[in-house]
Amino acid sequence: MTSLWLDRSPISTDPISGMATNYEVVVVGAGLTGLTTALLLARGGRRVAVVEAREVGACATGNTTGKVALLQGTRLSTIAKRHSTKKLRKYVEANREGQQWLLRYCAENGVATQVAVEHTYAQTPDGIPTVRAEMDAAVTAGLDAEWVENPDVPFPALAAVRLAEQAQLDPLPVLESMTADIRRHGGEVFENARVTGARERSAGVHLTIGDRIVTADNVVLATGTPILDRGGFFARLEPQRSYAAAFDVPGDFPRDMFLSADQPSRSLRFAPSDRGDLLLVGGNGHPVGRERNAHDLVVDLIDWTRTYFPGAQPTHTWSAQDYSAIDELPYVGPLLPGDNRILVASGFSKWGMTNGVAAALALSARIFGGGMPWADVFETWRTSEVVGLPKAARMNSLVAAYLTGGWVTSALHSAGELPAEGEGTVVRKGVKPVARSTVDGVTTEVSAICPHLYGIVAWNSAEKSWDCPLHGSRFAANGTVLEGPTTAGLGPSHERAAHVDH
Ligand SMILES: Cc1cc2nc3c(=O)[nH]c(=O)nc-3n(C[C@H](O)[C@H](O)[C@H](O)COP(=O)(O)OP(=O)(O)OC[C@H]3O[C@@H](n4cnc5c(N)ncnc54)[C@H](O)[C@@H]3O)c2cc1C
Repeated sequence: MTSLWLDRSPISTDPISGMATNYEVVVVGAGLTGLTTALLLARGGRRVAVVEAREVGACATGNTTGKVALLQGTRLSTIAKRHSTKKLRKYVEANREGQQWLLRYCAENGVATQVAVEHTYAQTPDGIPTVRAEMDAAVTAGLDAEWVENPDVPFPALAAVRLAEQAQLDPLPVLESMTADIRRHGGEVFENARVTGARERSAGVHLTIGDRIVTADNVVLATGTPILDRGGFFARLEPQRSYAAAFDVPGDFPRDMFLSADQPSRSLRFAPSDRGDLLLVGGNGHPVGRERNAHDLVVDLIDWTRTYFPGAQPTHTWSAQDYSAIDELPYVGPLLPGDNRILVASGFSKWGMTNGVAAALALSARIFGGGMPWADVFETWRTSEVVGLPKAARMNSLVAAYLTGGWVTSALHSAGELPAEGEGTVVRKGVKPVARSTVDGVTTEVSAICPHLYGIVAWNSAEKSWDCPLHGSRFAANGTVLEGPTTAGLGPSHERAAHVDH
Protein backbone atom coordinates (compact mmCIF):
# COMPACT_ATOMS: atom_id res chain seq x y z
CA MET A 1 0.00 0.00 0.00
CA THR A 2 2.11 2.92 -1.29
CA SER A 3 0.51 6.15 -2.36
CA LEU A 4 0.88 7.51 -5.86
CA TRP A 5 2.88 10.39 -4.39
CA LEU A 6 5.29 8.36 -2.21
CA ASP A 7 6.16 6.01 -5.11
CA ARG A 8 9.25 8.08 -6.00
CA SER A 9 12.89 8.63 -5.06
CA PRO A 10 13.67 9.85 -1.52
CA ILE A 11 14.08 13.52 -0.64
CA SER A 12 17.61 14.72 0.34
CA THR A 13 17.93 15.54 4.03
CA ASP A 14 20.74 16.04 6.57
CA PRO A 15 22.74 13.17 8.11
CA ILE A 16 21.63 12.64 11.69
CA SER A 17 25.27 12.51 12.83
CA GLY A 18 25.38 16.28 12.22
CA MET A 19 22.52 17.08 14.61
CA ALA A 20 23.54 19.83 17.07
CA THR A 21 22.59 19.80 20.75
CA ASN A 22 20.92 23.21 20.66
CA TYR A 23 18.53 25.02 18.29
CA GLU A 24 16.29 28.05 18.62
CA VAL A 25 13.35 26.02 17.32
CA VAL A 26 12.87 22.29 16.79
CA VAL A 27 9.92 21.35 14.61
CA VAL A 28 8.85 17.75 15.16
CA GLY A 29 7.33 16.19 12.02
CA ALA A 30 8.13 16.71 8.35
CA GLY A 31 4.64 16.86 6.87
CA LEU A 32 3.24 19.98 5.24
CA THR A 33 2.57 21.70 8.59
CA GLY A 34 6.04 21.09 10.03
CA LEU A 35 7.99 21.96 6.90
CA THR A 36 5.99 25.14 6.23
CA THR A 37 6.50 26.24 9.86
CA ALA A 38 10.23 25.49 9.68
CA LEU A 39 10.58 27.33 6.38
CA LEU A 40 8.85 30.46 7.70
CA LEU A 41 11.08 30.41 10.79
CA ALA A 42 14.29 29.76 8.83
CA ARG A 43 13.44 32.58 6.42
CA GLY A 44 13.01 34.82 9.46
CA GLY A 45 16.54 33.99 10.65
CA ARG A 46 15.74 31.41 13.35
CA ARG A 47 18.10 28.45 13.79
CA VAL A 48 15.73 25.59 13.06
CA ALA A 49 15.86 21.81 12.90
CA VAL A 50 13.08 19.55 11.67
CA VAL A 51 13.14 16.07 13.19
CA GLU A 52 11.06 13.43 11.44
CA ALA A 53 10.48 9.97 12.92
CA ARG A 54 10.21 8.29 9.51
CA GLU A 55 10.68 9.98 6.14
CA VAL A 56 9.54 13.37 4.84
CA GLY A 57 5.81 13.07 4.07
CA ALA A 58 5.49 9.56 5.57
CA CYS A 59 2.08 10.08 7.19
CA ALA A 60 -0.96 12.15 6.17
CA THR A 61 0.80 14.56 3.79
CA GLY A 62 2.32 11.82 1.63
CA ASN A 63 -1.03 10.01 1.50
CA THR A 64 -3.42 12.92 1.06
CA THR A 65 -5.81 13.45 -1.82
CA GLY A 66 -4.06 16.79 -2.31
CA LYS A 67 -7.05 19.08 -2.88
CA VAL A 68 -6.27 22.66 -1.94
CA ALA A 69 -9.84 23.86 -1.58
CA LEU A 70 -12.09 26.15 0.46
CA LEU A 71 -15.17 24.03 -0.24
CA GLN A 72 -14.33 21.07 1.98
CA GLY A 73 -17.03 18.41 1.79
CA THR A 74 -19.46 19.26 4.60
CA ARG A 75 -16.91 21.07 6.78
CA LEU A 76 -18.46 24.54 6.53
CA SER A 77 -22.00 23.44 7.47
CA THR A 78 -20.61 21.28 10.27
CA ILE A 79 -18.73 24.27 11.69
CA ALA A 80 -21.75 26.55 11.12
CA LYS A 81 -23.93 24.21 13.21
CA ARG A 82 -21.68 24.68 16.24
CA HIS A 83 -20.16 28.14 15.89
CA SER A 84 -21.05 31.73 15.09
CA THR A 85 -20.95 33.17 11.58
CA LYS A 86 -17.98 35.27 12.70
CA LYS A 87 -15.99 32.13 13.52
CA LEU A 88 -17.04 30.40 10.32
CA ARG A 89 -15.80 33.39 8.33
CA LYS A 90 -12.52 33.43 10.24
CA TYR A 91 -12.07 29.71 9.53
CA VAL A 92 -12.52 30.39 5.82
CA GLU A 93 -10.22 33.44 6.01
CA ALA A 94 -7.50 31.29 7.65
CA ASN A 95 -7.94 28.61 4.99
CA ARG A 96 -7.91 31.18 2.21
CA GLU A 97 -4.65 32.57 3.52
CA GLY A 98 -3.21 29.03 3.75
CA GLN A 99 -4.42 28.24 0.23
CA GLN A 100 -3.03 31.44 -1.28
CA TRP A 101 0.30 31.09 0.52
CA LEU A 102 0.72 27.49 -0.68
CA LEU A 103 -0.26 28.20 -4.29
CA ARG A 104 2.01 31.25 -4.41
CA TYR A 105 4.86 29.18 -2.95
CA CYS A 106 4.31 26.49 -5.60
CA ALA A 107 4.18 29.06 -8.42
CA GLU A 108 7.39 30.75 -7.25
CA ASN A 109 9.23 27.45 -6.87
CA GLY A 110 8.19 25.62 -10.02
CA VAL A 111 5.94 23.13 -8.24
CA ALA A 112 3.01 22.02 -10.43
CA THR A 113 -0.56 22.64 -9.30
CA GLN A 114 -3.78 22.37 -11.26
CA VAL A 115 -6.70 24.77 -11.00
CA ALA A 116 -9.93 22.79 -10.64
CA VAL A 117 -13.57 23.15 -9.62
CA GLU A 118 -14.48 21.50 -6.28
CA HIS A 119 -17.93 19.97 -5.71
CA THR A 120 -19.71 18.70 -2.62
CA TYR A 121 -22.39 16.40 -4.00
CA ALA A 122 -25.30 14.16 -2.99
CA GLN A 123 -25.20 10.54 -4.12
CA THR A 124 -28.75 9.85 -2.92
CA PRO A 125 -31.91 11.89 -2.15
CA ASP A 126 -31.01 11.63 1.55
CA GLY A 127 -27.81 13.56 0.90
CA ILE A 128 -29.50 16.56 -0.72
CA PRO A 129 -30.42 18.44 2.51
CA THR A 130 -26.78 18.12 3.66
CA VAL A 131 -25.54 19.54 0.36
CA ARG A 132 -28.12 22.33 0.61
CA ALA A 133 -26.82 23.13 4.12
CA GLU A 134 -23.29 23.24 2.74
CA MET A 135 -24.41 25.65 0.02
CA ASP A 136 -25.97 27.93 2.66
CA ALA A 137 -22.86 27.81 4.87
CA ALA A 138 -20.56 28.50 1.90
CA VAL A 139 -22.61 31.55 0.91
CA THR A 140 -22.72 32.73 4.55
CA ALA A 141 -18.94 32.37 4.67
CA GLY A 142 -18.66 34.64 1.64
CA LEU A 143 -17.72 32.02 -0.95
CA ASP A 144 -18.91 32.28 -4.55
CA ALA A 145 -20.60 28.88 -4.46
CA GLU A 146 -23.16 27.74 -7.06
CA TRP A 147 -25.94 25.14 -6.94
CA VAL A 148 -25.94 22.45 -9.63
CA GLU A 149 -28.79 19.98 -10.32
CA ASN A 150 -27.82 16.61 -11.79
CA PRO A 151 -24.13 17.24 -12.45
CA ASP A 152 -22.94 15.67 -15.70
CA VAL A 153 -20.81 12.84 -14.27
CA PRO A 154 -20.77 9.06 -14.85
CA PHE A 155 -21.42 8.20 -11.16
CA PRO A 156 -24.54 8.77 -9.00
CA ALA A 157 -24.83 12.51 -8.27
CA LEU A 158 -28.19 14.23 -7.82
CA ALA A 159 -27.13 17.74 -6.82
CA ALA A 160 -23.98 19.60 -5.88
CA VAL A 161 -22.45 22.78 -4.56
CA ARG A 162 -19.72 23.95 -6.90
CA LEU A 163 -16.80 26.27 -6.14
CA ALA A 164 -14.62 27.36 -9.06
CA GLU A 165 -10.94 28.36 -9.01
CA GLN A 166 -9.79 25.81 -6.44
CA ALA A 167 -6.62 23.72 -6.83
CA GLN A 168 -4.99 20.32 -6.46
CA LEU A 169 -1.41 19.11 -6.32
CA ASP A 170 1.05 16.28 -5.74
CA PRO A 171 2.27 16.99 -2.19
CA LEU A 172 5.73 15.42 -2.54
CA PRO A 173 7.31 18.01 -4.87
CA VAL A 174 6.04 20.67 -2.43
CA LEU A 175 7.74 18.91 0.50
CA GLU A 176 10.90 18.39 -1.55
CA SER A 177 11.07 22.05 -2.49
CA MET A 178 10.43 23.15 1.13
CA THR A 179 13.07 20.77 2.50
CA ALA A 180 15.67 22.19 0.09
CA ASP A 181 14.52 25.73 0.88
CA ILE A 182 14.81 25.22 4.66
CA ARG A 183 18.34 23.89 4.22
CA ARG A 184 19.27 26.81 1.93
CA HIS A 185 18.15 29.14 4.72
CA GLY A 186 20.47 27.43 7.23
CA GLY A 187 17.91 25.04 8.71
CA GLU A 188 18.36 21.29 8.98
CA VAL A 189 16.00 18.40 8.27
CA PHE A 190 16.63 14.99 9.85
CA GLU A 191 14.80 11.77 9.03
CA ASN A 192 14.57 8.57 11.12
CA ALA A 193 14.74 10.71 14.26
CA ARG A 194 11.81 9.95 16.57
CA VAL A 195 11.19 12.26 19.52
CA THR A 196 10.24 10.14 22.53
CA GLY A 197 10.01 12.78 25.23
CA ALA A 198 10.07 16.53 25.94
CA ARG A 199 10.66 18.30 29.24
CA GLU A 200 10.45 22.03 29.91
CA ARG A 201 13.59 23.18 31.78
CA SER A 202 14.91 26.65 32.62
CA ALA A 203 17.40 26.38 29.74
CA GLY A 204 14.66 25.49 27.24
CA VAL A 205 12.83 22.36 26.19
CA HIS A 206 14.86 19.16 26.36
CA LEU A 207 13.88 16.71 23.64
CA THR A 208 14.83 13.04 23.72
CA ILE A 209 15.69 11.79 20.24
CA GLY A 210 17.14 8.27 20.40
CA ASP A 211 20.08 8.56 22.78
CA ARG A 212 20.45 12.33 22.21
CA ILE A 213 19.09 15.23 24.23
CA VAL A 214 18.50 18.29 22.05
CA THR A 215 17.56 21.64 23.61
CA ALA A 216 15.36 24.27 21.96
CA ASP A 217 13.75 27.56 23.02
CA ASN A 218 10.57 26.53 21.21
CA VAL A 219 9.28 23.17 20.03
CA VAL A 220 6.51 22.76 17.47
CA LEU A 221 4.75 19.39 17.51
CA ALA A 222 3.58 19.08 13.91
CA THR A 223 3.09 15.36 14.42
CA GLY A 224 -0.44 14.85 13.09
CA THR A 225 -1.73 14.36 16.64
CA PRO A 226 0.32 15.72 19.57
CA ILE A 227 2.77 13.08 20.84
CA LEU A 228 2.76 14.48 24.39
CA ASP A 229 -0.24 13.68 26.57
CA ARG A 230 0.06 16.83 28.70
CA GLY A 231 -2.88 18.87 27.45
CA GLY A 232 -5.05 15.79 26.86
CA PHE A 233 -5.44 16.37 23.13
CA PHE A 234 -5.78 12.64 22.53
CA ALA A 235 -9.19 12.82 24.26
CA ARG A 236 -10.26 15.82 22.16
CA LEU A 237 -9.30 14.38 18.78
CA GLU A 238 -10.83 11.56 16.78
CA PRO A 239 -8.44 9.68 14.44
CA GLN A 240 -10.16 8.89 11.13
CA ARG A 241 -8.66 6.54 8.55
CA SER A 242 -9.67 6.35 4.92
CA TYR A 243 -8.65 4.70 1.67
CA ALA A 244 -7.58 5.85 -1.76
CA ALA A 245 -6.61 4.40 -5.12
CA ALA A 246 -5.23 5.74 -8.40
CA PHE A 247 -6.56 4.29 -11.65
CA ASP A 248 -5.65 4.14 -15.31
CA VAL A 249 -9.00 4.81 -16.96
CA PRO A 250 -9.60 4.06 -20.64
CA GLY A 251 -11.31 7.01 -22.33
CA ASP A 252 -12.29 10.31 -20.85
CA PHE A 253 -13.31 11.11 -17.27
CA PRO A 254 -14.16 14.33 -15.36
CA ARG A 255 -11.26 16.63 -14.47
CA ASP A 256 -13.17 18.47 -11.70
CA MET A 257 -12.86 17.52 -8.00
CA PHE A 258 -15.78 15.88 -6.14
CA LEU A 259 -16.52 14.85 -2.56
CA SER A 260 -19.82 13.25 -1.57
CA ALA A 261 -21.77 14.61 1.38
CA ASP A 262 -23.38 11.24 2.09
CA GLN A 263 -21.90 7.87 2.98
CA PRO A 264 -20.04 5.83 1.99
CA SER A 265 -17.96 8.86 1.07
CA ARG A 266 -16.43 9.20 -2.38
CA SER A 267 -13.71 11.72 -3.21
CA LEU A 268 -12.52 12.14 -6.81
CA ARG A 269 -9.89 14.15 -8.67
CA PHE A 270 -7.45 13.54 -11.52
CA ALA A 271 -3.68 13.27 -11.15
CA PRO A 272 -1.26 14.03 -13.97
CA SER A 273 1.39 11.29 -14.33
CA ASP A 274 4.06 10.10 -16.79
CA ARG A 275 1.56 7.65 -18.25
CA GLY A 276 -1.17 10.28 -18.69
CA ASP A 277 -3.87 11.51 -16.35
CA LEU A 278 -4.93 9.05 -13.64
CA LEU A 279 -8.22 9.08 -11.74
CA LEU A 280 -7.94 9.21 -7.94
CA VAL A 281 -10.81 7.84 -5.86
CA GLY A 282 -10.90 7.98 -2.07
CA GLY A 283 -13.39 7.22 0.67
CA ASN A 284 -14.76 4.56 3.08
CA GLY A 285 -13.47 6.39 6.17
CA HIS A 286 -13.85 5.06 9.72
CA PRO A 287 -12.31 5.65 13.17
CA VAL A 288 -8.84 4.05 13.37
CA GLY A 289 -8.71 0.43 14.59
CA ARG A 290 -12.47 -0.10 14.55
CA GLU A 291 -12.94 -1.79 11.19
CA ARG A 292 -13.04 -5.57 11.16
CA ASN A 293 -11.83 -5.96 7.59
CA ALA A 294 -10.04 -2.94 6.17
CA HIS A 295 -8.98 -4.90 3.09
CA ASP A 296 -12.67 -5.18 2.07
CA LEU A 297 -12.91 -1.39 2.05
CA VAL A 298 -10.12 -1.17 -0.52
CA VAL A 299 -11.84 -3.82 -2.65
CA ASP A 300 -15.12 -1.90 -2.33
CA LEU A 301 -13.46 1.31 -3.57
CA ILE A 302 -12.02 -0.53 -6.58
CA ASP A 303 -15.37 -2.21 -7.34
CA TRP A 304 -17.20 1.13 -7.14
CA THR A 305 -14.71 2.75 -9.51
CA ARG A 306 -14.92 -0.12 -12.01
CA THR A 307 -18.71 0.10 -11.97
CA TYR A 308 -18.76 3.74 -13.04
CA PHE A 309 -15.46 3.88 -14.97
CA PRO A 310 -15.46 0.53 -16.84
CA GLY A 311 -11.98 -0.85 -17.49
CA ALA A 312 -10.35 1.23 -14.70
CA GLN A 313 -7.12 -0.44 -13.58
CA PRO A 314 -5.72 0.41 -10.12
CA THR A 315 -2.07 1.51 -10.21
CA HIS A 316 -1.74 2.32 -6.48
CA THR A 317 -3.87 1.75 -3.39
CA TRP A 318 -3.23 3.28 0.01
CA SER A 319 -4.77 4.51 3.24
CA ALA A 320 -4.05 7.25 5.74
CA GLN A 321 -5.42 9.00 8.79
CA ASP A 322 -6.08 12.49 10.03
CA TYR A 323 -7.62 13.88 13.22
CA SER A 324 -10.89 15.78 13.92
CA ALA A 325 -11.34 18.07 16.90
CA ILE A 326 -14.39 17.66 19.12
CA ASP A 327 -15.72 21.14 18.29
CA GLU A 328 -14.65 20.84 14.61
CA LEU A 329 -12.03 23.64 14.64
CA PRO A 330 -8.29 22.83 14.49
CA TYR A 331 -5.99 23.13 17.51
CA VAL A 332 -3.07 25.44 16.81
CA GLY A 333 -1.21 26.92 19.77
CA PRO A 334 0.35 26.08 23.14
CA LEU A 335 0.37 22.51 24.45
CA LEU A 336 -0.34 23.93 27.90
CA PRO A 337 -2.27 27.15 28.58
CA GLY A 338 -0.12 30.28 28.54
CA ASP A 339 3.15 28.47 27.80
CA ASN A 340 4.53 29.13 24.32
CA ARG A 341 7.53 26.83 24.63
CA ILE A 342 5.76 23.77 23.20
CA LEU A 343 3.24 24.43 20.45
CA VAL A 344 0.97 21.99 18.66
CA ALA A 345 -0.99 21.85 15.39
CA SER A 346 -3.69 19.25 14.82
CA GLY A 347 -7.38 18.66 14.12
CA PHE A 348 -7.44 19.43 10.40
CA SER A 349 -10.25 16.91 9.70
CA LYS A 350 -8.68 15.84 6.39
CA TRP A 351 -8.30 19.43 5.20
CA GLY A 352 -4.68 20.10 6.15
CA MET A 353 -3.45 21.34 2.76
CA THR A 354 -4.96 24.71 3.67
CA ASN A 355 -5.38 24.35 7.47
CA GLY A 356 -1.81 23.06 7.94
CA VAL A 357 -0.33 26.02 6.10
CA ALA A 358 -2.59 28.40 8.05
CA ALA A 359 -1.35 26.68 11.24
CA ALA A 360 2.26 27.23 10.14
CA LEU A 361 1.55 30.93 9.52
CA ALA A 362 -0.07 31.25 12.97
CA LEU A 363 2.63 29.34 14.85
CA SER A 364 5.57 31.07 13.19
CA ALA A 365 3.92 34.46 13.82
CA ARG A 366 3.47 33.49 17.49
CA ILE A 367 7.15 32.52 17.81
CA PHE A 368 8.17 35.83 16.21
CA GLY A 369 5.99 37.63 18.78
CA GLY A 370 3.10 38.52 16.44
CA GLY A 371 -0.16 36.92 15.43
CA MET A 372 -2.63 36.35 12.61
CA PRO A 373 -6.01 38.13 12.75
CA TRP A 374 -7.94 34.83 12.51
CA ALA A 375 -5.73 32.73 14.83
CA ASP A 376 -8.15 32.87 17.77
CA VAL A 377 -10.52 30.38 16.05
CA PHE A 378 -7.69 27.84 16.11
CA GLU A 379 -6.71 28.37 19.78
CA THR A 380 -5.77 25.21 21.67
CA TRP A 381 -7.36 26.42 24.92
CA ARG A 382 -10.68 27.90 23.86
CA THR A 383 -13.93 28.10 25.74
CA SER A 384 -15.99 27.21 22.66
CA GLU A 385 -15.06 23.57 23.20
CA VAL A 386 -18.17 23.26 25.34
CA VAL A 387 -20.10 22.90 22.06
CA GLY A 388 -18.06 19.79 21.34
CA LEU A 389 -18.71 18.10 24.66
CA PRO A 390 -21.50 15.78 23.40
CA LYS A 391 -19.16 14.59 20.65
CA ALA A 392 -16.33 14.19 23.18
CA ALA A 393 -18.61 12.17 25.46
CA ARG A 394 -19.67 9.94 22.53
CA MET A 395 -16.06 9.52 21.33
CA ASN A 396 -14.69 8.77 24.76
CA SER A 397 -17.49 6.36 25.71
CA LEU A 398 -16.73 4.45 22.51
CA VAL A 399 -13.08 4.50 23.54
CA ALA A 400 -14.07 3.10 26.94
CA ALA A 401 -16.18 0.41 25.24
CA TYR A 402 -13.24 -0.59 23.07
CA LEU A 403 -10.93 -0.59 26.05
CA THR A 404 -13.03 -3.16 27.87
CA GLY A 405 -14.24 -4.91 24.70
CA GLY A 406 -10.66 -5.39 23.48
CA TRP A 407 -9.53 -7.03 26.68
CA VAL A 408 -12.59 -9.28 26.84
CA THR A 409 -12.35 -10.37 23.19
CA SER A 410 -8.68 -11.17 23.52
CA ALA A 411 -9.52 -13.51 26.35
CA LEU A 412 -11.82 -15.48 24.03
CA HIS A 413 -9.12 -16.48 21.54
CA SER A 414 -6.84 -19.22 22.68
CA ALA A 415 -3.26 -19.26 21.42
CA GLY A 416 -3.89 -22.22 19.06
CA GLU A 417 -3.49 -21.87 15.29
CA LEU A 418 -1.03 -19.58 13.55
CA PRO A 419 -2.62 -16.80 11.50
CA ALA A 420 -2.74 -17.33 7.72
CA GLU A 421 -0.58 -15.12 5.47
CA GLY A 422 -1.60 -11.45 5.83
CA GLU A 423 -3.69 -12.08 8.90
CA GLY A 424 -3.35 -11.17 12.55
CA THR A 425 -5.22 -12.12 15.73
CA VAL A 426 -5.03 -11.13 19.34
CA VAL A 427 -4.66 -14.22 21.47
CA ARG A 428 -4.34 -14.81 25.17
CA LYS A 429 -1.11 -16.18 26.58
CA GLY A 430 -1.44 -16.62 30.31
CA VAL A 431 -2.98 -13.35 31.44
CA LYS A 432 -1.49 -11.31 28.62
CA PRO A 433 -3.06 -10.42 25.27
CA VAL A 434 -0.58 -11.09 22.48
CA ALA A 435 -0.75 -9.72 18.93
CA ARG A 436 0.18 -12.49 16.53
CA SER A 437 0.44 -12.00 12.78
CA THR A 438 1.91 -13.62 9.68
CA VAL A 439 3.39 -11.33 7.03
CA ASP A 440 5.62 -12.48 4.15
CA GLY A 441 5.74 -15.96 5.64
CA VAL A 442 7.01 -14.78 9.03
CA THR A 443 4.82 -15.17 12.13
CA THR A 444 5.54 -12.53 14.76
CA GLU A 445 4.24 -12.12 18.29
CA VAL A 446 4.32 -8.82 20.15
CA SER A 447 2.42 -7.45 23.11
CA ALA A 448 -1.13 -6.47 22.10
CA ILE A 449 -1.18 -3.61 24.64
CA CYS A 450 -0.71 -0.17 23.09
CA PRO A 451 1.92 1.60 25.21
CA HIS A 452 0.12 4.93 24.80
CA LEU A 453 -2.90 4.36 27.06
CA TYR A 454 -3.10 0.58 27.14
CA GLY A 455 -5.73 -0.17 24.50
CA ILE A 456 -5.74 -3.56 22.82
CA VAL A 457 -4.60 -3.24 19.21
CA ALA A 458 -6.62 -4.62 16.29
CA TRP A 459 -5.30 -6.09 13.03
CA ASN A 460 -5.53 -3.88 9.95
CA SER A 461 -5.81 -6.30 7.04
CA ALA A 462 -5.26 -3.59 4.42
CA GLU A 463 -1.99 -2.20 5.82
CA LYS A 464 -0.86 -5.37 7.69
CA SER A 465 -0.46 -3.29 10.82
CA TRP A 466 -1.67 -3.25 14.41
CA ASP A 467 -3.95 -0.25 15.02
CA CYS A 468 -5.14 0.99 18.41
CA PRO A 469 -8.89 1.76 18.52
CA LEU A 470 -8.47 4.20 21.41
CA HIS A 471 -6.43 7.12 20.04
CA GLY A 472 -5.16 5.96 16.65
CA SER A 473 -1.61 4.75 17.36
CA ARG A 474 -0.42 2.32 14.70
CA PHE A 475 2.37 -0.25 14.63
CA ALA A 476 4.04 -2.47 12.03
CA ALA A 477 3.61 -6.25 12.43
CA ASN A 478 6.90 -6.36 14.36
CA GLY A 479 5.62 -3.74 16.80
CA THR A 480 7.58 -0.67 15.60
CA VAL A 481 5.69 2.64 15.68
CA LEU A 482 4.11 3.85 12.45
CA GLU A 483 2.06 6.83 13.60
CA GLY A 484 -0.32 8.28 16.16
CA PRO A 485 0.21 9.66 19.65
CA THR A 486 2.46 6.84 20.87
CA THR A 487 6.21 7.29 21.01
CA ALA A 488 7.01 3.66 21.89
CA GLY A 489 6.46 0.45 19.96
CA LEU A 490 4.55 -2.65 21.06
CA GLY A 491 6.63 -4.50 23.62
CA PRO A 492 7.75 -8.09 23.40
CA SER A 493 4.97 -10.64 23.85
CA HIS A 494 6.37 -11.96 27.12
CA GLU A 495 6.62 -8.79 29.17
CA ARG A 496 4.84 -5.49 29.66
CA ALA A 497 5.88 -2.63 27.35
CA ALA A 498 8.67 -0.38 28.55
CA HIS A 499 7.89 2.84 30.40
CA VAL A 500 7.05 5.71 28.08
CA ASP A 501 7.82 9.35 28.81
CA HIS A 502 4.65 11.34 28.17
C1 LIG B 1 -6.97 9.98 3.13
C2 LIG B 1 -6.75 11.45 3.35
C3 LIG B 1 -7.02 12.35 2.33
C4 LIG B 1 -6.81 13.71 2.54
N1 LIG B 1 -7.09 14.58 1.54
C5 LIG B 1 -6.93 15.90 1.74
C6 LIG B 1 -7.22 16.84 0.72
O1 LIG B 1 -7.62 16.48 -0.39
N2 LIG B 1 -7.05 18.15 1.00
C7 LIG B 1 -6.63 18.58 2.21
O2 LIG B 1 -6.56 19.79 2.44
N3 LIG B 1 -6.31 17.71 3.18
C8 LIG B 1 -6.44 16.39 2.97
N4 LIG B 1 -6.13 15.51 3.94
C9 LIG B 1 -5.57 16.02 5.21
C10 LIG B 1 -4.12 16.39 5.06
O3 LIG B 1 -3.45 15.43 4.27
C11 LIG B 1 -3.51 16.46 6.45
O4 LIG B 1 -4.32 17.27 7.28
C12 LIG B 1 -2.13 17.07 6.41
O5 LIG B 1 -1.33 16.37 5.49
C13 LIG B 1 -1.52 17.04 7.79
O6 LIG B 1 -0.20 17.46 7.68
P1 LIG B 1 0.71 17.48 8.94
O7 LIG B 1 2.04 17.95 8.51
O8 LIG B 1 0.04 18.21 10.03
O9 LIG B 1 0.76 15.95 9.42
P2 LIG B 1 1.52 14.72 8.77
O10 LIG B 1 1.66 14.84 7.31
O11 LIG B 1 0.86 13.49 9.29
O12 LIG B 1 2.97 14.83 9.37
C14 LIG B 1 3.28 14.51 10.70
C15 LIG B 1 4.70 13.97 10.72
O13 LIG B 1 5.14 13.86 12.06
C16 LIG B 1 5.95 12.72 12.15
N5 LIG B 1 6.00 12.31 13.55
C17 LIG B 1 5.00 11.79 14.30
N6 LIG B 1 5.44 11.51 15.55
C18 LIG B 1 6.75 11.87 15.58
C19 LIG B 1 7.76 11.83 16.59
N7 LIG B 1 7.51 11.33 17.79
N8 LIG B 1 9.01 12.28 16.29
C20 LIG B 1 9.27 12.79 15.06
N9 LIG B 1 8.35 12.85 14.06
C21 LIG B 1 7.12 12.40 14.32
C22 LIG B 1 5.23 11.71 11.27
O14 LIG B 1 6.09 10.64 10.91
C23 LIG B 1 4.79 12.57 10.11
O15 LIG B 1 5.69 12.56 9.04
C24 LIG B 1 -6.32 14.16 3.77
C25 LIG B 1 -6.04 13.25 4.78
C26 LIG B 1 -6.26 11.91 4.59
C27 LIG B 1 -5.95 10.96 5.70
